[in-house]
Amino acid sequence: MSTALPKPVYQRFCKQVQGRQQLDRQTADAVAHAARIWAQDKGATHFTHWFQPQTGTTAEKHDSFLTLKSQIVAGQEETYAIDAFSGGQLLQSEPDASSFPNGGVRSTFEARGYTIWDPVSPMFIRRGPHGTAVLYIPSVFISYNGEALDEKTILLRSSEVLSNAAVQLLRTLGDNETKRVTTTLGCEQEFFLIDRALYNLRPDLKITGRTLIGVPPPKHQQLEDHYFGQIPSRVLACIAEAEYELARIGVPVKTRHNEVAPNQFEVAPIFEEASIAVDHNLATMEVLHQVAHRHKLKVLFHEKPFKGVNGSGKHANWSMQTDSGDNLLDPTATPETNYRFLLVLVAILDAVYKHGGLLRSSIASASNEHRLGANEAPPAIVSAFLGDHLSEVLNAIEAKRPVADFSQPHLETVRIGGTVLDLKISTMPPIARDLTDRNRTSPFAFTGNKFEYRAVGSKQSPSFPVVLLNAAVSRSLNLVSEALNKAKGSKAVPSEEDILSVVRQFTTASKKIIFEGNGYSDDWVKEAEKRGLPNIKSCPEAFKQLLAPHNKELLISQGILSESELTSRYHILLEKYAKDLLIEGNTLRSIITNSVLPSAFTYRKELADSINSQKTAGVDALPEKKILASLTKACIALTDSNEKLEALITKIEGLHEEAQGEACGKELTVAMEDVREKSDALEKQVADKYWPLPKYTELLF
Ligand code: ADP
Ligand code: MG
Repeated sequence: MSTALPKPVYQRFCKQVQGRQQLDRQTADAVAHAARIWAQDKGATHFTHWFQPQTGTTAEKHDSFLTLKSQIVAGQEETYAIDAFSGGQLLQSEPDASSFPNGGVRSTFEARGYTIWDPVSPMFIRRGPHGTAVLYIPSVFISYNGEALDEKTILLRSSEVLSNAAVQLLRTLGDNETKRVTTTLGCEQEFFLIDRALYNLRPDLKITGRTLIGVPPPKHQQLEDHYFGQIPSRVLACIAEAEYELARIGVPVKTRHNEVAPNQFEVAPIFEEASIAVDHNLATMEVLHQVAHRHKLKVLFHEKPFKGVNGSGKHANWSMQTDSGDNLLDPTATPETNYRFLLVLVAILDAVYKHGGLLRSSIASASNEHRLGANEAPPAIVSAFLGDHLSEVLNAIEAKRPVADFSQPHLETVRIGGTVLDLKISTMPPIARDLTDRNRTSPFAFTGNKFEYRAVGSKQSPSFPVVLLNAAVSRSLNLVSEALNKAKGSKAVPSEEDILSVVRQFTTASKKIIFEGNGYSDDWVKEAEKRGLPNIKSCPEAFKQLLAPHNKELLISQGILSESELTSRYHILLEKYAKDLLIEGNTLRSIITNSVLPSAFTYRKELADSINSQKTAGVDALPEKKILASLTKACIALTDSNEKLEALITKIEGLHEEAQGEACGKELTVAMEDVREKSDALEKQVADKYWPLPKYTELLF
């Protein structure tokens, strides 16, 4: 834009976007014109308002730049085809909104919905097959009455609320320079890549994104040899191509590596302003999906595609940054006297303590349920990890004693950031050590200069978790500001003692949320119960947190969600949960009925035939008889379980929303697990050549 627009127009555009003002019509027209010329030069024929309905993915409707213009020439009407794209078209368009989830916000006859350009997030051109190219315009999606129907509107609202709250705190501390604080976000994205041809043979993977049956192979991740191992060349080719495409649309992908499970990988970008980071995370998933296709691979974003090996997550690295580029969560070398940091830190702890249930609701889904609480992912109890050093700082302030010395002066080396380690190898330079070690078991861990929200599902949009986090932290920042104002009395700025008293007060009130130990252990479950922390195991229970009075009040009073938007989201989440599970149930039932049992029967017949012919030959087919008997037992067990599953599905399909969600979580998952157990037992007995589906060994190695 800086090269395509006249300088004053460009400056006006920047000023309006940075100052979070509405674009004036003239500027919008100029930007639209420049964008069209730029896009057409690069081969684009269409534009699309790209938006994020509450489906976890994105949506788009393409419009060409074509316009017909009529003119009277010598008394004759002549029609010309021209390319046009006005500011009005750039700013807003109107897709039919009737078929997106709306949770009762509108009925289908009120189909109007609007997509409106979010000028903070850059437009980009995406190329498709046969030279097609489309101009993408990142947008919000709202209803006829202005209600948010998407993930982005509420994210923008929450970031603004957070900015105001953070600026207010900085004002209280005497900072009159900072005008805005942005939410920063960097999403580490985990996924599996498997062979596409094999994938196509697994209806469960195709329909539900995960294997509903299947025996884990004898060797999977026990040897811990996949994590950070050499990236297989076929995979590297695919990821590298995806990275190239992503770079072309402005997504700053930075890291890539093998993850813990076989065929599991991760990519992460450089962090950005949250709304852009969300756009870019969704784009990353889409591009990986498309590029994998070209490499005859299939990317799986499901949180738990395979039983018995690790699932995937999305680590949402979150922080706040002032308009002069200061990270508010940078502890510096001496956090104990970095008051701004300490106040922000205790505000976050307060937020997580008071609204842990709310945070839990934002990551609840049928698929993420396989990770949360399972022995590999952050538990369903939301706690925060700080590391030894920061915990000590808060404890010392609380106890009014000096902070223990974390430096190691005997090493006589320069301290860079944290402390230094002595490797006892003379040729190695001293190693700078971070203030905190890592804790892979914490759902919400401080990792050096940001919090890492690790419980977010790999498949979901990171937007909603960030919205709720922003909301909770904004409130707590306001409370911290209030406490500071009270403590400082008539002074212009609070004294050191005022600040420490506030830090102390908040630490005491919320320290129950801090947990430094192993979050996967049973001891923690007991300990958390003693501390009174909620352990919300099921999705329906988690979704109810959205409607709990204190959470509802938080979101509505801040203007992040209206009452009807909130209720509609609750219904959408619950409905989706039940639908997801019913789809799984029906898929499983049909695989068992149409593939697994018939295969087992074919094998049984072969055994029976063999027994008969051996009998004719005068031989007693002892081993075959033994296997046939056991096979018969296994088949009966599976048939019984499958019948029960079928009956249960019929029953659940007849229930109403809340009862349906409840029954899906409590009964359907159990019935499916039972069918799986029986099917897996059968898989172990049926001859390989009869088994109808590719097995884990084929899929994962
Ligand atoms: P790690 O494995 O140490 O968590 P990665 O490099 O895989 O590190 O991912 C860390 C992510 O955190 C990156 O996306 C990075 O850009 C992001 N990040 C770093 N600093 C911040 C910050 N201040 N705010 C938000 N995200 C950040
Ligand atoms: Mg990480």
